[in-house]
Amino acid sequence: MVQFREPLEAASRLALSYLDQLDRLPVAPTAGLDELRSRLEKPLNNAGILPEQVITELAADVEGGIMASAGGRFFGWVMGGSLPAALAADWLTSAWDQNAASYAAGPAAAIVEEVAGAWLKEIFGLPASASFALVTGCQMAHATCLAAARHAVLFKRGWDVEQRGLFSASPIRLLTSSERHGSFERAVRLLGLGLQQITYLPTDEHGRLREDALEQALRADPESSAIVLLQAGDVNIGAYDAFEALIPIAKRYGAWVHVDGAFGLWAAASPLFRHLVKGVEAADSWATDGHKWLNVPYDCGYAFVADSDAQRASMSYRAPYLTHAANARDQMDWTPEWSRRARGFSTYAALRQLGRSGVAELVERCCRHAHSLVTRIGSLRGAEMLWEPVINQGLVSFGDDQRTDEVIAAIVATGEAFFGGTTWRGRRAMRVSVCNWQTSEQDVDRAVKAVEAVLAA
Ligand SMILES: *Cc1c(COP(=O)(O)O)cnc(C)c1O
Repeated sequence: MVQFREPLEAASRLALSYLDQLDRLPVAPTAGLDELRSRLEKPLNNAGILPEQVITELAADVEGGIMASAGGRFFGWVMGGSLPAALAADWLTSAWDQNAASYAAGPAAAIVEEVAGAWLKEIFGLPASASFALVTGCQMAHATCLAAARHAVLFKRGWDVEQRGLFSASPIRLLTSSERHGSFERAVRLLGLGLQQITYLPTDEHGRLREDALEQALRADPESSAIVLLQAGDVNIGAYDAFEALIPIAKRYGAWVHVDGAFGLWAAASPLFRHLVKGVEAADSWATDGHKWLNVPYDCGYAFVADSDAQRASMSYRAPYLTHAANARDQMDWTPEWSRRARGFSTYAALRQLGRSGVAELVERCCRHAHSLVTRIGSLRGAEMLWEPVINQGLVSFGDDQRTDEVIAAIVATGEAFFGGTTWRGRRAMRVSVCNWQTSEQDVDRAVKAVEAVLAA
């Protein structure tokens, strides 16, 4: 064990020292591209180097090049941090080094995933009979769910897509709103469904897909197979499609309904926000993330499919007509991956650390902080609130587009807080996202003060 002790103790020391300093470190990286390259681009050494030295040098060389997204004043994109139990479980996952492809290769990892999947379905209010997969992120969750959808809609037409491929299959229409996330398109491309098959439908003033538009689009071509992508929380304003109204419309035309709930599906965990996802359980598949709002380390997303046969048929390597002993769950029957990280451990640990009420509290706290940040920044001189958060996402602008981008850059340069920019309804805006369990009232105060100072300068 001598070989492991020194590098692991060094890693533990360095990790703890980093996490301890998070509150004092600038949020945005301070080391530039050239500097990082000059430090890290060493000639590949010929002789080996002692593990501990490798680790201490790595930590020294990346200094200033680590985005402090693990801390409480990072409000860019939609990113979570890591809960202590989840991070610790992630370390053990590496130490145990299980290949979570199958029960046989790592029995405990398989059972932990089984349990985590059941807990997640319970939190989201999804059917207990739904199948699921733990994948690298929501992007791969889309790919997993849409592969099941592709199987199911073509199977209904007597076409076995796994055997015959897509080349002579009848086209599948894809209907979604203008506010969908680009990961949908990437999954569509990957699965060979074709970007040209997508119809982008208009939304209402709340960013919700319009019911009349969906109905009209489906009615225009009732004979074609269709997949409808709905959104539980879009990245700009956290908009939720009206599932209760839209899903029955899609079902009437025999369409498969897939839901992108990368972060927004977590609203289901809170009694205060659950109404936003009302009716979502009637969809056919759902994609969400663990590494965003649940605050487990990257990489962790979840795919759920109501029709478990469809998911299994699209993923399992064994022929779907064979019956297998149903007493163990081989993960590779449900995911596009073969060898894979046992990412169930960190999800399991996160859910146990928080408990049901802790997950609800985490969601509510982030929403409260987002609301406070956006309304306080929005009321500063020179700022304007463009979207008051309904959940954890809001938008502010600082005048014209150029000025808005300049102010965002100046705030980031203070190192006090990190925000990103976006273009929303034709205007540049600063996007505020609160997704981290660490964000506190003090963090909100510090961030508002930093913005105030930039605007006053
Ligand atoms: C982040 C995000 C995705 C992509 O998820 P990854 O975990 O980055 O793969 C998809 N949809 C929405 C709405 C997102 O916010």
